[in-house]
Amino acid sequence: MRHRTDYRVLPFSDDTSAVFITGSHRLLLAPAATAERLESGVDSLLPEERRAWDRLRTEAGIGDEANRTRLRNSALSDGADFAVNVNLTNVCNLACAYCFAEGGDYGRITEAMGEHSIGWIFDFVRRRAAPGRRVRFEFFGGEPLANAGVIRKICERARDLAEREGTEFVHRISTNLTLLPQGVEELFRDHRFIVSVSIDGGRRVQDANRPSKNGRGSYDRIVRNLTRLRRACGDDITLVARMTIATAEPTLTENVLDLWRLDLFDYFQIYPGVYPVDRDTKVPVALTLGDRKLSEPRDVRYINHFLQPGVAEQFRDFLLHYPNLFSPENRFKGVLEYERTVQMITEGATALAFCSGGRTYYTHSPDGSISPCHRLVGDRSFDVGTGPEGITREHPEWRRTVDEHPVCGACWARYLCGGGCRQENHVATGDLNDLNRESCQYQLMLAEEVIRMLARSAADYRERSRARYDDLFVSCGRPVVPNGRRPLDPAADHRPFRVLC
Ligand code: SF4
Ligand code: SF4
Repeated sequence: MRHRTDYRVLPFSDDTSAVFITGSHRLLLAPAATAERLESGVDSLLPEERRAWDRLRTEAGIGDEANRTRLRNSALSDGADFAVNVNLTNVCNLACAYCFAEGGDYGRITEAMGEHSIGWIFDFVRRRAAPGRRVRFEFFGGEPLANAGVIRKICERARDLAEREGTEFVHRISTNLTLLPQGVEELFRDHRFIVSVSIDGGRRVQDANRPSKNGRGSYDRIVRNLTRLRRACGDDITLVARMTIATAEPTLTENVLDLWRLDLFDYFQIYPGVYPVDRDTKVPVALTLGDRKLSEPRDVRYINHFLQPGVAEQFRDFLLHYPNLFSPENRFKGVLEYERTVQMITEGATALAFCSGGRTYYTHSPDGSISPCHRLVGDRSFDVGTGPEGITREHPEWRRTVDEHPVCGACWARYLCGGGCRQENHVATGDLNDLNRESCQYQLMLAEEVIRMLARSAADYRERSRARYDDLFVSCGRPVVPNGRRPLDPAADHRPFRVLC
C-alpha cells in the first residue's frame, strides 16, 4: 500500500493524525509518531503497529480491489436519479460580476423554451430513465422564473404521470429569486420544490457581486422573496443558498454567518468564484452579459478564487466552526458538498464518477439540443442528441472511470472525488479528460479539510442522518453506491489506531 495512493495521513493536532483509507473509506485516528512513520510507508511502522495495521486491513477489507471492479461493472443508472436539466431561457435580469466565466454559454441560446419541447422531454424520460428510477427536473437558465409557464406545465404533466404510472418526480430550480411571478409560491409548495437560490452573503457582498442590470442591488429583493416563500410554503419547500465566493473580505465564515442568521435556508452550497486576473492560465472566453455578446472569443486569464493567497486558510477556519452551525434554533442542515463527502466516509460509499453528466443527466435547451452538461450548452460539438430524436450519438468520453485516468487513477481521494469536472477540464486544457489542475487542487483541499473536520468532530455530528443527500443533486448528481465494506467488531483492539468511521 502506498501513501497518497492507497491511504492518506492528515495531521490535525499536535498529537493526533487522521488516516483515511482509499479503498474502504475507513477513517482512523493515529498518534502523531505512528502517523509520521505511516507517511513514509507501511514498512516503516514498528512491529506492533504493523500487526495492528495488517489486522485492520484483513478485518476491514483495507486495500482491496473491489472499487475498481465496482466502477468497471456498474450500470449507468447506478447511484443517481435520472435527471433532466431544463434550460428554460437565456434571459437573466442580473449582471453578476463573474458571469462571463461560467462557461460562456449565455448568448449562444437566443430563445426561450417553447411548449413543444415539453413532449420531447417526457419522451426522453420514458426512453432513457431506468424502470422505477426517480426522475428529477432541474429548472435552469438564465433566470428560469422568466419562463414560469413552461415550468408549471412540466410539473402538471409530471403529476399526471406519477398518478398514472407511479414514477416519482423531484423538482429543483436554480434561481436568483429576484422575480416571484404570480402563483409561484403555490407551485413550489404543491410540488415540494428544492429551491436553490444564488446569493453570495450579506447585502454588501451580494449587491457588489450580483447587481441588477440597471446597477441596483439585488439583496433586499431576494430576502423579501425568500421570506415570502418560507411563509407561504413552510417546510414543504427546501431552500438552498448557492454561494459563489469571490472576495477576500468579508471572510467565508462571515458571509455564511450572514445568511445563516436569516434562518431561512436548509442547506448551503459553496462554490469558488472564477474570475479574470492578470496572470495564470489563458483560455478563450467570449465576454457576454445576459443575452448580449460583449466580445468575440479571446484569451482571458482566469483564476479559481480558492487558490488565491489566504483563501485556503479562510476555508480551514470555516470548517473549524462548521459543526457549530448545527443548532436546534436554526434550520441549517449542512453544506451539501461537505455532507456528501462525510456521508461517503461515515456510511462507506464510493463515487462512480464525478458527476452524472452524460450518464443519467442531460440538458435540454430551447434550440432542441441535448447536451451532457449544462455548462457546455450551445457548443454544438458536445451535443449528443436532439429533442425529437433523443440521443443520437454515443459519448464514451463522458464515461471513463477514475481508475482509467493516468493521474486520478493513482490519487488517494479518487473514490470520493470521482475524477474532476469535465467541463472545467475542457476550459483549461481543451480536452474533457485532461485534468484542470486548479480544479483538482480545489477537490483535494476539499477532501482533506472535510476529513480533518470529521476527525475532530463529536459523535453526534458523525451520526446525523444523511438520508436526503441522494435527493438533493449534490455535485451535478455525483453517483454514489455503498462500497460493501465489512462492519468492524466494536470491541476489537486496533491500538495504536482508533477506528472513527
Ligand atoms: S480530479 Fe484531482 S482530486 Fe479528483 S480524483 Fe483526480 S487527481 Fe484526485
Ligand atoms: S460536474 Fe462539470 S461536467 Fe459534470 S455536469 Fe457539472 S459542470 Fe458539467
